[in-house]
Amino acid sequence: GSLSSSARPMELDASKLKVTLTSNPKTISKDIMFGQTTTDHMFVANYDPVNGWSVPEIKPYERLSLDPTTSCLHYATSVFEGMKAYRGPDGKPRIFRPIKNMHRLVNSAERVALPAFDPEALLKCLIRLVAIDERWIPNLPEHCVYIRPFMIGTREALGVLPSEEAMLLIIMSPAGPIFKPSPTAPTPSFLGVNLLAVTQFTRAWPGGTGAHKVAGNYAPGFQPQKTAKAAGYDQILYLLEDTTITPGKREYKVTEAGVMNFFVVLRRDDGDLDLVTPTLDGTILPGITRLSVLELANAHTRSPLDGVNHSTKIHTHERTITLSDLTSWHRDGRLLEVLVVGTAIVIAPVGRIGVQRVDENVTPNGLAPMAENGEASSKEHVLVMPSYPETAGLG
Ligand code: PMP
Repeated sequence: GSLSSSARPMELDASKLKVTLTSNPKTISKDIMFGQTTTDHMFVANYDPVNGWSVPEIKPYERLSLDPTTSCLHYATSVFEGMKAYRGPDGKPRIFRPIKNMHRLVNSAERVALPAFDPEALLKCLIRLVAIDERWIPNLPEHCVYIRPFMIGTREALGVLPSEEAMLLIIMSPAGPIFKPSPTAPTPSFLGVNLLAVTQFTRAWPGGTGAHKVAGNYAPGFQPQKTAKAAGYDQILYLLEDTTITPGKREYKVTEAGVMNFFVVLRRDDGDLDLVTPTLDGTILPGITRLSVLELANAHTRSPLDGVNHSTKIHTHERTITLSDLTSWHRDGRLLEVLVVGTAIVIAPVGRIGVQRVDENVTPNGLAPMAENGEASSKEHVLVMPSYPETAGLG
């Protein structure tokens, strides 16, 4: 192509999409392990500041070859999305609100100075990729193909600088439900995700990157996650210290649970329900499941989705939730249910919340005893949520 200085860098152009199909399709094994098996094809487009976006391509899945100086390997110039394609009742693939993920990916890219692209164009390419690898969506309830769009900085130099070059990719992997109901149990055997609230690890902070899906947000969560596991919990409930809520007192705002957004259901004096989730204050990923739960609850209150005239209304609120709010709602018997939501888990009840405050538990070397020996400290305070038969009839 022309490299003249007057030529404008190319936009990502879905109409130019080049498709090369594999001559060697994989056999789909029945016992798939999520994330380990990838489908037959992948999407790739490359960006450089002179030419802009290359001709986008769908081609047989293959390894990448990167120079060891490549930016994303050193400075986490890497952003990603997670979405799912299910089979609809007609057997055709359905993707859940995908344009929202495309916009979030652009926002994430811009946060780490990676190039933007036309979200509609990437969506067109993504839909084509799903159609090409449609046979990978298992024909089983709750099974899907997990879609991982991502962008990496491909600048080849060690200087700590933005990467002006980038690679945009989409790969896919078949997936089943995270929680499989026991085949023998008449009721769901899963009794909730257990969360450990700690104050010594923070996921995000004002001015940081919590509201973006950047790779650098995730590695620092792995050690806390191990701590939670070792103490008998599934995930960390991330908190953020705030001294402005109650003057003279340290309060802890609840932000997210692992890689899931957080909701509580409260009983109101008038018999209605409050559905509360933390405000998007820049420290929380604006989850698409979160948004959908809020929208569905509002729609339910305006006109019940199942056509039944429910007397109980659900009132949604985006507000600060502190650890002391949780404790007092629990003590007052108003806390009906705690929920975690996200693409992977969809929506799940919380069973138990363990609370560990490092300022109550410091050892001489400054570490909470739990982090040292992997056991919950005796100072741990545990909120146990009502088990879900009691709340199954919400609304
Ligand atoms: N919080 C974090 C930190 C996440 O990584 C995710 C998964 N994208 C979510 C919440 C849930 O977001 P979504 O509903 O869009 O999957």
